[in-house]
Amino acid sequence: MKIKFICIFFIIIIFCTSCDNTSEKNASSSIDNSDIEKSTLVDEDSLYAYNENSSQNYWGSFAGSNYIREVDNGYYFFFNDVLCYFDKNSKSSTVVCSSLNCTHDNEECSAYFGIYGDASQYGFNTMGFEIYEDYIYLIGYDISEVWDCYLYRCNLDGTGRTKIGYLYSIDADEDNGYITSYELTMHNGCLYGILDSENEYSCISKITLDGEVTKIVECNEGYYPSIDSVQCYNNYVYYIEKWYESEDYTGYNSCLYRYNINSEEIECLIEGFYYNFGYLLIDDNKVLYMNTDENFCVKDISTKDESVIIESNAEDLWSFSFDGRYIYIVSGDDSVLDVYDTEGNLIDEITDFDNCFFGDSEFLFVEASCEPESGQSCDGWSWWVLDKSQIGETDKDWIMIATTE
Ligand SMILES: [Zn+2]
Repeated sequence: MKIKFICIFFIIIIFCTSCDNTSEKNASSSIDNSDIEKSTLVDEDSLYAYNENSSQNYWGSFAGSNYIREVDNGYYFFFNDVLCYFDKNSKSSTVVCSSLNCTHDNEECSAYFGIYGDASQYGFNTMGFEIYEDYIYLIGYDISEVWDCYLYRCNLDGTGRTKIGYLYSIDADEDNGYITSYELTMHNGCLYGILDSENEYSCISKITLDGEVTKIVECNEGYYPSIDSVQCYNNYVYYIEKWYESEDYTGYNSCLYRYNINSEEIECLIEGFYYNFGYLLIDDNKVLYMNTDENFCVKDISTKDESVIIESNAEDLWSFSFDGRYIYIVSGDDSVLDVYDTEGNLIDEITDFDNCFFGDSEFLFVEASCEPESGQSCDGWSWWVLDKSQIGETDKDWIMIATTE
């Protein structure tokens, strides 16, 4: 596959790219300081198995983590702007293009979503998409001095691309030509997005699947307020609002809020978040997050009880996830993925990858040039999948699902 690295698509690459295998960390000790039963962290009908009405919160705590979307029997993802599918049963992947001898790198290909048009005037943001009732929803744009961004829909094979409605515009100069970080989260057949660039991403809009946009949350706390990490569950839209107490960027503050979709009420649930590190819902009443003491905690929203699961001793924390069984934490200059059980015991440590996309309860997805944990160095870059039943084992059977080589 031809490498078509267009920098404007790669604005959210936040992980380090080194593949050094020298970093070893000790398992953190487990601390129990409250009455929350950790063994009952997850109910039977958990968030961590595929359900069409779930917003798939298990893809990680980092804002806008929808690089991969799960469906009944597999996963859709864009690799190099090309739409691919990984099948759970056969454990193999395909580009969703049926044309013979297609190079999948131009607008003739139904799976290609990169920049196209005579003067490279159109494209799609393939770093965030959603699927609902056999349609893919994503943002497409016309590039000129002002980038006009629209909600698009297409079939699962990339055909039938339909412009549904106008969403917002970006001044290409002000935003350095980037499609600045936005989030689009599907929940119960509605999209919730942070769209408004003029207000520095301080609003959440509800977008119906026929393109009607309604602003539902607008934050205005302090100075430079912003919103991110939108997750939905049952009747709520959860999000983190961040702001500064003074104009000179001092007095950083943050709060996890939730918006009640029915009553439109907003409540502050947890104040004080480790900067940019997000949270994960365990259910309607329990939130996994990193507090300002840099410990991983479960907080009970009703009782306000907080239980420390992992006392953090790691530096350079990047992101984390929870799949109903294990807690996954990416940290360090060399991107190490530590896997803990819900008692805080270190179960596995995975190295030699560039970017971790986490996953549901069945599979773990990472980006790496060579096979993870191999200690080798390779050209190009690839995506790899691990069957999570192998977590904790020394020799793992990593499956390469896409590569530029
Ligand atoms: Zn093709």
